[in-house]
Amino acid sequence: MDTPQNPSLLASDMKVADLHLHTRYSDGTYTPEELAGHAAAVGLDAVALTDHDTVAGCAPMAAACAGRGLEFIPGSELTADLEGREFHVLGYWLDAGSALLQARLAEFQAARIQRIHDMVDRLNHRGIGLTADAVLAVANCGSPGRPHVARALVEGGHCRNYDDAFERFLKKGRPAWVPKVALTMAETIQLIHAAGGAAVLAHPGLYRSDPMIPGIAALGLDGLECWHTRHSATASESYARTAARLGLVATGGSDCHGMAKGEPLIGRIRLPYAQVTALKARRPVAAAAA
Ligand code: AMP
Ligand code: FE
Ligand code: FE
Ligand code: ZN
Repeated sequence: MDTPQNPSLLASDMKVADLHLHTRYSDGTYTPEELAGHAAAVGLDAVALTDHDTVAGCAPMAAACAGRGLEFIPGSELTADLEGREFHVLGYWLDAGSALLQARLAEFQAARIQRIHDMVDRLNHRGIGLTADAVLAVANCGSPGRPHVARALVEGGHCRNYDDAFERFLKKGRPAWVPKVALTMAETIQLIHAAGGAAVLAHPGLYRSDPMIPGIAALGLDGLECWHTRHSATASESYARTAARLGLVATGGSDCHGMAKGEPLIGRIRLPYAQVTALKARRPVAAAAA
């Protein structure tokens, strides 16, 4: 595997952050307690929780971080549609008390549960005897998704492993793939701002849509996730230049899902804390107060 590039100028005494982490509140395998424990063990100073379409893990994660002297940033990873393509947008410092945010998250979660039923129907039509209840039991959270279907397929003996489940059934274009309901990119960025947050385009290297980044930036984006465990060193440096050119804060995160993908990725990306400070200044409340 290509070694991800960490931000340059990284002195050993510099405070570092990981701004992309998942727990069991979406498709990660760690509890907030376990994740905070790993964050402290690998020497992080600040962490953001970015579970898919939910902020339900943020209160327990805040408590777990407080107990370890870690700074905690409440966030979420939202799905956005732009010209028929799916992008992920990270929202940071989201106000969980925002009625608009909570209403939208409730809609996404209801759509996710319906999508599990639709994916299971498709699997059933192909002779795979899986039930939606089995998937929802594996998920055991408000934000069920394809990773949980993959785990249920493995547990049921229908697939060899997680990757096999995606390759045979769940990847876009495969028999059990069902598109996800999503807001547009403009609506997603507006929602994050309405909830007091800063909006960052997640892992641009996974979309093969680099020419669309300036247009997304023009919709009010605040940052670009330049450093990610699936970006090569070359790609990371290139995205950092893109961020600088477009006036975006260059951010980074491991996208750790616990043991879901074989190895915990937390600790692989160490973002200098100055980037956290720069991103924090982009929040609408911060801008209004300035
Ligand atoms: P969903 O939100 O239900 O569409 O699931 C998306 C999640 O599935 C991503 O955040 C990844 O964690 C995981 N995922 C997506 N594509 C793959 C793949 N090809 N192989 C393994 N995991 C994947
Ligand atoms: Fe995920
Ligand atoms: Fe993502
Ligand atoms: Zn993620």
